[in-house]
Amino acid sequence: MGLVMKNHYELVIKNCMILTMDEKNRTFERGYIGVENGIITYIGSEKVRGEEEIDGSGKVAIPGLINCHTHSPMTLFRGIAEDLPLKKWLENTIWPLEKRLRPHHVYWGALLACLEMVRTGTTCFNDQYFFMDEVARAVEKIGLRASLSWGLLELHDPERGEKELRKGVQFAEKYMKYANGRIVTKLGPHAEYSCSLEFLKRVRTEAHRLGIGIHMHLAESKYYVSEYIKRLGIHPVLSLAKINFLSHDVIVAHCIHIGDEEISTLTRYGVKVAYNPTANMKVALGIPRIVDMLKAGIIVGIGTDGPASNNSLDMFREMKQAALLQKIHYGDPTVLPARKVLRMATIDAAKVLGLEHTIGSLEVGKRADIVLVNLKGPHLTPLHDIYATLVYAASGADVDTVLVDGKIILHQGEILTVDEHQVIEKAIRASRELLEVVS
Ligand SMILES: [Zn+2]
Repeated sequence: MGLVMKNHYELVIKNCMILTMDEKNRTFERGYIGVENGIITYIGSEKVRGEEEIDGSGKVAIPGLINCHTHSPMTLFRGIAEDLPLKKWLENTIWPLEKRLRPHHVYWGALLACLEMVRTGTTCFNDQYFFMDEVARAVEKIGLRASLSWGLLELHDPERGEKELRKGVQFAEKYMKYANGRIVTKLGPHAEYSCSLEFLKRVRTEAHRLGIGIHMHLAESKYYVSEYIKRLGIHPVLSLAKINFLSHDVIVAHCIHIGDEEISTLTRYGVKVAYNPTANMKVALGIPRIVDMLKAGIIVGIGTDGPASNNSLDMFREMKQAALLQKIHYGDPTVLPARKVLRMATIDAAKVLGLEHTIGSLEVGKRADIVLVNLKGPHLTPLHDIYATLVYAASGADVDTVLVDGKIILHQGEILTVDEHQVIEKAIRASRELLEVVS
């Protein structure tokens, strides 16, 4: 290669199996990863030394998992409004509770979510909620990476929309490249049914001006889609295309109630899709046609959605559900094989977020966002197909060590950057406070 290979690095992860998830899906049976200044500077099977070394024997190194759609502070609502239809869930429980939210609730809820994500191998997440500066603080504190947008609820009220947009833009400007560049921002109009077309046009213009993407819900519920069509005489996907809203930098969560024409429209504009199988099943919203979207060339990443409608942020569970739901939907066990599913939670997810040049695979030059999964458990034995083991048998509980930007956040099961007990206590208190005010 003409490069002089160093044999000494700041940090080396040694003796582990490595799944790079690069374009060729290269793997190493017994490999080494060298890290300097937060960047992967060596990956391969040559023995290299580090000032600091992590022994990866009996473990597999994978790129940190990327959660393409969630609402992290909703950990506080986990388990309080169960087994309800979407409209009732939103209008009778979640929205009234959210009105009571104060910044400190959001901070502790988000930090609790971050803790869960670290422990289950997620190093980056795409979040949309309120008081997002508190989420940014939580992400900075624990050392994760995130793409954050302030959830903009216009509710067809132009005056309210103006205020919301201002808040969203201010947040996006202030927190772009925050936390040593680990945070990027987007604009987050809530959904096609909660925001008018006029408002969405304004959001599009502002996103272009700021050079950032958009993250929203789309075609999640049959009810809201049919109401939309009754009102405007056109499917939301097509109406968004008509106002020049759709583009390669738009991430749409769900897209359950769409037909062939909508799939080809999303494809034509390079729109990215976040697939949230557990939340879709739990709220009985339907099954998105992910296999058709992939065939059409749409880039799809996996997300958990908020912990109030999942109720977990464990991307290992989500990967399994992602595969199984499509297999049963298409009546075909060959669709969404394990390796593709792992790509949808790593490199494809990075493409969804527009971060594929920095994260999503283990390659020289990329940020060192690395997860070590312990392979010694009886449920992971014997090991014949590492992708199937990770997607169908492993869980977040098997995650042993997590690095973001080369910094160790979880080391052999121990969280290094926050006081875990304090976070859990504070989050419980914040959740109780919210419920007491309501009851
Ligand atoms: Zn959502």
